[in-house]
Amino acid sequence: MDCGTTGPRQIWPSICPPGVQIPEAAQPGPEIDVERATQAYMNLLSPEQRARSDAYFEGGYWLQLWQFLYGLAVLLAILSLRWSARMRDWAERVTSRRWLQSAVYALMYTPLMWLLSLPFAWYAGFAREHAYGLSNHTFGGWLWDKFKGMLMVTVLAVIAIVSIYAFIRRAAANWWGWATAFMFAFLLFVFLITPVFLNPIFNKYQPLADGPVRSAVLSLARANEIPADNVMWFDASKQTKRVSANVSGLFGTTQVSLNDNLLNRTSLPEIKAVVGHEMGHYVLDHPLQGAVFFTLVFGLGFLILERFFERGRRRWGERFGIRERADPAGLPLALAILSAYLFLATPLTNRYIYAGETAADLYGLNAAREPHGFATVSMRLGAHRKLEPSPLEEFLFYDHPSGRRRVEMSMRWLGENQGLFTPAPSSQDRGTAANPGAENQ
Ligand SMILES: [Zn+2]
Repeated sequence: MDCGTTGPRQIWPSICPPGVQIPEAAQPGPEIDVERATQAYMNLLSPEQRARSDAYFEGGYWLQLWQFLYGLAVLLAILSLRWSARMRDWAERVTSRRWLQSAVYALMYTPLMWLLSLPFAWYAGFAREHAYGLSNHTFGGWLWDKFKGMLMVTVLAVIAIVSIYAFIRRAAANWWGWATAFMFAFLLFVFLITPVFLNPIFNKYQPLADGPVRSAVLSLARANEIPADNVMWFDASKQTKRVSANVSGLFGTTQVSLNDNLLNRTSLPEIKAVVGHEMGHYVLDHPLQGAVFFTLVFGLGFLILERFFERGRRRWGERFGIRERADPAGLPLALAILSAYLFLATPLTNRYIYAGETAADLYGLNAAREPHGFATVSMRLGAHRKLEPSPLEEFLFYDHPSGRRRVEMSMRWLGENQGLFTPAPSSQDRGTAANPGAENQ
């Protein structure tokens, strides 16, 4: 079975064999030592594998900064070359209706931004992923996915830009209040349509055939009162080597989707652990809470934007050809301010997401009761996420608990729930204690 990258860059030789490997120190027993058990899991990766994963993830910290600066440079170029003013002029020639002018502007602006951002996107999303052996994408496939993404974003951008400029024309300096209310509806709309309508644009979703995985997932769903009778799988392996799953619902149709990497490269205890985590997000209502949180983040951003935009316009408006607040030619200036705010707010938004992920982790442990499954899959995720960051690093950059935190959580949970387990016969037995002799995929 192909279980990761092959060749000199292989990340997973030791933990790659499918199935849960329970290190000796992590065996259930009367005196399980959380720290020792966690360390035993950490030792499953060789120093070379660790170094490689650390380098990939630490490079990602800088990548966030370069991405922000690159985006800023593109926005400033569009402004100072007066391309933005020219797109506004074209829009005015096409129609005299102001709302349509902002729509025409958005129809030109979004593909232009996409094109200018493509070199960076290629480096960060294609070249670098391949260099670390994390991607399965062909260049053509990658470009086609990017193009489809751009069409999708253009439709959403037209809706958002037309609406927000309508608020600016009607409410002048108070536009930001209306824009914040709009953002809430917009985020909910995007969260709701993404799994059902947008994800199938990129991947093919098919019902999972009857078998142990399907019955385990449906049993978990019933136990957690998730009205799902649909278990789907999708072909993520054409893009990436990462494992993932999600639970999503719209109008009473709830579906659990597993990616094929999860199905083909991990074991049943790991699948149950991952699905338990995703069910946590669903049951704890994280999409709705996330929409509320990010509405507040955007609301504050709009307020800051209102203060800085007028200053910037007075200063550079003439040079960039921006006439007034409601002139779509000012959009790149507005987005430059907003992106600076969002960049600086990243540690804050990371904290919010991190808290939700921790809650889902604990929910998943309690629901799936697969501490070794969760510890093992957390080690697999260590291929692209530094396993043991410093506390400051985890605070600033992590939006999910680190691998070490997750293994520690699993081992603590195991230590406190010994009564649920019969001791496993030996470390050679690949089932978990909760599923003695369970067949691994
Ligand atoms: Zn999650």
